[in-house]
Amino acid sequence: MKTIIEPFRIKAVEPIRMTTPAQRDAILRAAKFNPFLIPARDVLIDLLTDSGASAMSSDQWAGIMRGDESYAGSESFFALRRVVEDLTGFTNILPTHQGRASERILFELIGGPGKVVPSNAHFDTTRANIEHSGARAINLPIPQASRPRDRHPFKGDMDVAALETLIRAEGTANIPAVMMTVTNNTSGGQPVSLANLRAVREVCTRHGLPLILDACRFAENAWFIRTREPAFVDRPVRDIARAMFDLADGVTISAKKDGLVNIGGLLLIRDHALFQRACNLLILTEGFVTYGGLAGRDLEAMAQGFREVVDEDYLSYRIRSVEYLGQKLLDAGVQIIEPPGGHAIYIDAAHFAPHIPPEQYPGQAVVCGLYRAAGIRACEIGSVMAGPHRRPEMELVRLALPRRAYTQSHYDYVAEACAELFTRRRELRGLRILEAPDVLRHFTATFEEL
Ligand SMILES: *Cc1c(COP(=O)(O)O)cnc(C)c1O
Repeated sequence: MKTIIEPFRIKAVEPIRMTTPAQRDAILRAAKFNPFLIPARDVLIDLLTDSGASAMSSDQWAGIMRGDESYAGSESFFALRRVVEDLTGFTNILPTHQGRASERILFELIGGPGKVVPSNAHFDTTRANIEHSGARAINLPIPQASRPRDRHPFKGDMDVAALETLIRAEGTANIPAVMMTVTNNTSGGQPVSLANLRAVREVCTRHGLPLILDACRFAENAWFIRTREPAFVDRPVRDIARAMFDLADGVTISAKKDGLVNIGGLLLIRDHALFQRACNLLILTEGFVTYGGLAGRDLEAMAQGFREVVDEDYLSYRIRSVEYLGQKLLDAGVQIIEPPGGHAIYIDAAHFAPHIPPEQYPGQAVVCGLYRAAGIRACEIGSVMAGPHRRPEMELVRLALPRRAYTQSHYDYVAEACAELFTRRRELRGLRILEAPDVLRHFTATFEEL
């Protein structure tokens, strides 16, 4: 069969509240043209982020009931540790309330003024935590990553030659670790090849540097390796994921992505002395080492989520859903970052609304257009998010796909809405900022239409 179906049926449903274009126009105006300020109940299809928006399985909900809420030595912690140990080979495992808590602990330990942390591309909270420690965060993506129509199969790879150059220039004493983000969120959810991970590991070993994985989307990355990297075609996803983790000295994970839960994170550290120091920091701000700022029920749901996410029928459906939406947009003439990544489609808003200059926020105009026309909530990643002092490389609109939450007909609706808006794109109007803070302004900025 050619049709790839959702590999689940639906046991509980959450009604979507339908609205008319006139109602949405009023809602958009009340939210001052910023979708972050629209109440979720007024959204038909919420593609703002894939983070923490997964639908849980019946087994995860059963785990919620089973959760052991003991302060110390919770059975739910041991269940989680068994699953994570089996998946990653790490034995030093800390739960945290989400990915950035793992990052904060790690960089408080290894960061600091004068240090430099290279990566294929840092996610924004990772960069913020590195910089908060006083260190510098450096991105070393391959050149193909910034060419939107280049169909390189592993656009998330690191430029290994650039890493060697950086190490020579900064000196190994100033580099506490090299990071690799899988998949590479910042470059559009693009995967990293195992060949590239191994080449980076080789450089790290030669210079005596630890390698840290930001493994939020490790399963999606492993699926891309299985389908695109000749040496690993048709190898079990679990084995590929294990090969990735085997290369790392430490791992930070937000379980709100491939953990298939609404809240949770992990910090894995090979070195025992460093792990002990991480335990002490965890206790200081997150909680005791067997719960790390989560309830026992959250640990159960997370344990089951990490079991389910490496299911190959799930991953096949997951990656196909993103590709399906991407292809429909391309067929309608909408330009996107190609090839589609693992968790989102990125629309090229400069191409979508060429009559709106960057100073009038074409990405925000497309985001507002999609909400008004169809109740779809997307996220601007362009001049609004970049802030007043930085010119972004591209004006993008991200349609992030929550895991297992929407069906194919929902994505048909999204594709139709994008295509229809594209035919009347000349009607889209630029925006002017009324009020905005200096940092992270996209969350709270208010706008008016020009
Ligand atoms: C979401 C994310 C994080 C941060 O995780 P939170 O759970 O949101 O704190 C870190 N790195 C990447 C690549 C992410 O996508």
